[in-house]
Amino acid sequence: MPSPAYRGRLAPSPTGYLHLGHARTFWTAQQRARAAGGTLVLRNEDLDRSRCRPEYVTAMIEDLRWFGFDWQEGPDCGGPHAPYDQSARLDLYRAAFEKLRAAGLVYPCTCSRRDIAESAGAPHESGNGGGDEPLYSGRCRPEHIDAAERATRATWPRADHSWRFRVPDGHRIQFSDTALGPQAAVAGETFGDFVVWRREDLPSYQLAVTVDDAAMGISEVVRGADLLVSTFRQLLLYEALDLPPPAFHHCPLMLDDRGHRLAKRHDSLSLRTLRATGRSPESIRAEWR
Ligand SMILES: [Zn+2]
Repeated sequence: MPSPAYRGRLAPSPTGYLHLGHARTFWTAQQRARAAGGTLVLRNEDLDRSRCRPEYVTAMIEDLRWFGFDWQEGPDCGGPHAPYDQSARLDLYRAAFEKLRAAGLVYPCTCSRRDIAESAGAPHESGNGGGDEPLYSGRCRPEHIDAAERATRATWPRADHSWRFRVPDGHRIQFSDTALGPQAAVAGETFGDFVVWRREDLPSYQLAVTVDDAAMGISEVVRGADLLVSTFRQLLLYEALDLPPPAFHHCPLMLDDRGHRLAKRHDSLSLRTLRATGRSPESIRAEWR
């Protein structure tokens, strides 16, 4: 059986300037696509209206080109799976959400951020779709979502609630990471019911990337290890939406000299600043070897 051609992706969010941590993970993605003779897709993950800015999209493309990235499909060059801006793909996410709702797999959740943090009983790091959100208490989870309710609950998401995916408690999810080897998690223990549609009337990170990676025919997702727990959530969505999952390759996170994760606030490590101070991409990459 012929294996499908390799398709990888770079999927930055234009919420700030790209830094070295992004560049390193993206470089691995590009190297894997090149080694396989495959295609690299650039996807602009611009769903967060309050944080994404058009000038960061321009900067993102400039900085990636400067560093030596070369993609074959993307918002700037088009391709067979256009559009490559998530903000222009809302219909696809809505259709996927409707499928989950019709299957009785989601329920409305009125909990505020504070409710969730308090019920978890412990401080937590808030992440961008990461694996670090507190386990949801189940406060809004119905006993069951019956057929009549599914049929009548045709109201489109309103501003007063989000929608959560009901995870199959106790279900063990496994996959073999192409970097980290065999991985396993238990739904309801490693992570709980998670948001698929936000109260801002937008898909969650989990839903949008699952829909896009499937629709764009991505064969391997290369990303940071901070998203490892999210991969289990997304594997449940692939199953629920009857979509074939890609392979996953989670890269170790780059730390700063104090052992903290690199973030967009580390201006001195932004590609933009490094370029302005005369660093060359070649010299930066030489340090990674
Ligand atoms: Zn709730």
